[in-house]
Amino acid sequence: MHKFGRIKITTAIPGSHSGLKDLAYNLWWTWNSEAIDLFRDIDLVLWEKLDRNPVRLLQEVSRRKLEEKQASPEFMERYEKVMKDFRHYLSDEDTWFRRNCPQYKDEHIVYFAAEYGFHEVLPVYSGGLGILSGDHCKSASDLGLPFTAVGLLYKQGYFEQRINAEGWQETQYFSLNYSQLPVIPVTDDAGKPLTISVELANRTVFARIWRIDVGRVKLYLLDTDVPENNAYDRSLTERLYGGDRETRIQQEIILGIGGIRALDALGIKGTVFHMNEGHSAFMGLELARKLIAERNIPFDEAREIVYSSSVFTTHTPVPAGNDVFPLEMVDRYFCRYWEQLGLQRHEFIRLGLKPGDPDNFNMTVLALNMSGRRNGVSALHGAVSRNIFNCIWPGFHEDEVPISHITNGIHTMTWLAPGIRHLFDKYFPSDWKYRLDDESVWESVDRIPDDELWKTHMTLKTQMIRCIRERLKKQYMANGVPLHEVNDLDNQLDPNAMTIGFARRFATYKRASLIFRDLSRLEKILNNKGTPVQIIFAGKAHPADRPAHEVIKHIHDIARREGFRGKIFLVENYNMSLARSLVHGVDVWLNNPRRPLEASGTSGMKACINGVVNFSIMDGWWCEGYNGKNGWVIGDDTPYSNEHHQDDADSKSLYEILEREIIPLYFNRDERGIPTGWVRMMKESIKSVAPVYGTHRMVKEYTQAMYVPCMERIQKIHESDCALVRDLAAWKRHVEAAWPHVTLTANEDIHGLSDYQAFSDQEIRLSVTVQLGMLAPEDVKVEVFYGPIVNNRIVQGKSAEMSLVRQTDSGTWHYETSLRFTDGGEYGYTFRVIPWNANQMNKYDLPLIRWV
Ligand SMILES: *Cc1c(COP(=O)(O)O)cnc(C)c1O
Repeated sequence: MHKFGRIKITTAIPGSHSGLKDLAYNLWWTWNSEAIDLFRDIDLVLWEKLDRNPVRLLQEVSRRKLEEKQASPEFMERYEKVMKDFRHYLSDEDTWFRRNCPQYKDEHIVYFAAEYGFHEVLPVYSGGLGILSGDHCKSASDLGLPFTAVGLLYKQGYFEQRINAEGWQETQYFSLNYSQLPVIPVTDDAGKPLTISVELANRTVFARIWRIDVGRVKLYLLDTDVPENNAYDRSLTERLYGGDRETRIQQEIILGIGGIRALDALGIKGTVFHMNEGHSAFMGLELARKLIAERNIPFDEAREIVYSSSVFTTHTPVPAGNDVFPLEMVDRYFCRYWEQLGLQRHEFIRLGLKPGDPDNFNMTVLALNMSGRRNGVSALHGAVSRNIFNCIWPGFHEDEVPISHITNGIHTMTWLAPGIRHLFDKYFPSDWKYRLDDESVWESVDRIPDDELWKTHMTLKTQMIRCIRERLKKQYMANGVPLHEVNDLDNQLDPNAMTIGFARRFATYKRASLIFRDLSRLEKILNNKGTPVQIIFAGKAHPADRPAHEVIKHIHDIARREGFRGKIFLVENYNMSLARSLVHGVDVWLNNPRRPLEASGTSGMKACINGVVNFSIMDGWWCEGYNGKNGWVIGDDTPYSNEHHQDDADSKSLYEILEREIIPLYFNRDERGIPTGWVRMMKESIKSVAPVYGTHRMVKEYTQAMYVPCMERIQKIHESDCALVRDLAAWKRHVEAAWPHVTLTANEDIHGLSDYQAFSDQEIRLSVTVQLGMLAPEDVKVEVFYGPIVNNRIVQGKSAEMSLVRQTDSGTWHYETSLRFTDGGEYGYTFRVIPWNANQMNKYDLPLIRWV
């Protein structure tokens, strides 16, 4: 071969199409199907070949194709319409946020996450957490929130998965070519890459900033692959969740501390800071460090401001999802940092210590300690989180631990199948896309004729099957499967078989192989004449999670056995494109995690809005979403201490409901071949899930319950010229010092803690004496805490403030109150004191409480 030089030609886009490039560089296209259709129609084959990447499409499309389009009035008309919609979207001032919170339009919400899933062309997500961050940004844009997101740009993203001939997962990494992706380099005034730096144990590491436009929202991503860094540091942000603990802490320092510095470099002044999962929790420390440096205030005052402006969402009770670092490691990275906070080592370490684990620095605990508003991602997960983190508020009743919940959602327009959307266009009010969380809109589902919905579903199912066949063929060929077996695929994946989809990360708590617990029973279910069933599996295992690899291997092996071959399929490389295909086209979406470990789950929501019926354990969002007629429940809400028993009970329930309810309903057809009972359930599923489990509802809740209250409080702090936090910090120091001397004494003789008999609605007078020592009655609330007694404990306890009656002695006060109970039964009551200050953010700001 002769030597040759390379010339890369990028197609010059004619002026008449110049908007296409703007469109390709804003992820708005990912949730606007008219824009997607435009790119597809330029060159369908190239579009698919380039994995639906419009930036590359425009670089590589032939001039002839573009000229053809230019000459087509039909195409140009659509093009003009899309461009008009796009420009209007970007400049529209009449947004939900502007209408509801006009006074806060100039404030700024900053969102931190380690992963973002917008579309398969940007593989910087691993699973549900990333997709949720992406969907959150999309809705924040749609609703017009003043919102900026921060993350890391991973040169190699998350891995691509191969499943080899033996059924083992293999990981492959490819470097992303940023010039072919909708990422925009951020430069300084001189046109040089804008960079920031952080200190990582004795050295300075630089990171440059990239930008991704998500509608109106801008996402800034940090990347350490810059010439200023040595080779090791350049690779720090190479892989999402790659490397070891050491890599992880460094990535999290870059994300949290570097993220705040990037905002400064960009001139963005955040008011509210939202940590989506604990990965970014160092952010709170950097905010405090800046305040201390700028205003010369002590740490506890700075922390009070950080606390007032920060929101923290915890996403999983599973230990692998909650980062901890050995103290020795934290020492190495932070020994010069805590000085800048004016803290000593033990004070710093305490910020991340979980009681009972003295050897590790826990990022979730740090986040809980630095943010005044905290939430889990479903009602059940809120309760589970209150239980797990009760230790941070020792002495408090679990129900009162200040962690609330906001149930997750999905970005409706991202996950809705085009075919289904067309039905909505036809039968819904014309403005339905602007009222996605309005339940009355979704009532119109009933106006869709059964046969039209069923036909649309079957079309989507056929498309899904075509896509799965294609993927499987590639997979089998790569594994050297004999050609006749590859060709057999054309006869397998029967569109008339009831098709169950199971796709998600293969974390072991998701129990992907639960359905294999009784193989002979499953074999019968799959092979019944006249009611055939097939199951499609997909999912990635974290490279270091050996047990999860075994699960993949197990599914693979069963899929090859007699009786299961051609009925069970395992598709490699689960990503957003495969997810779309499955949630659009299967009949049943199966979810069987080990309760209560699925914090929310979102893939079931994606299925439901497309009329795919959800069949799930009573866990995560399904506890709220299930209404008795929109799907099925596996098992019940029994808590188990023995995993074996739980698996047995859940799998039995799974088989039973499949056999008795799901399969019969699916195959019960009318004279037109339509399963009318099933279609009724599809409609109920769409109608009940779509308006509630969307990110529009979710982002509105975050705005109302979290963001706006933060803004109000920060405004109050500024109005007081920070006196509010100065006084509050001083008061907290005072209360903490005085607390050991606070005691309560029940007055046994007069209405104290003694046993009563009373009638319903009879007034019961109670009193208690409190020794406050150095504290004044204004510093505390004295409460009676009461509720029904179950298993010798007060449950669903309520508290009521008691009234100060008189001082009985120096530092001793007498309080009284009365209770009435309406219903008969046995109730318990007791007394307690908690610190109280009108300026604190929450009732339980100080984790101090004294019981009688
Ligand atoms: C939605 C989604 C998930 C999350 O699925 P769960 O069932 O909530 O675990 C994971 N990966 C991809 C690619 C998704 O689209």
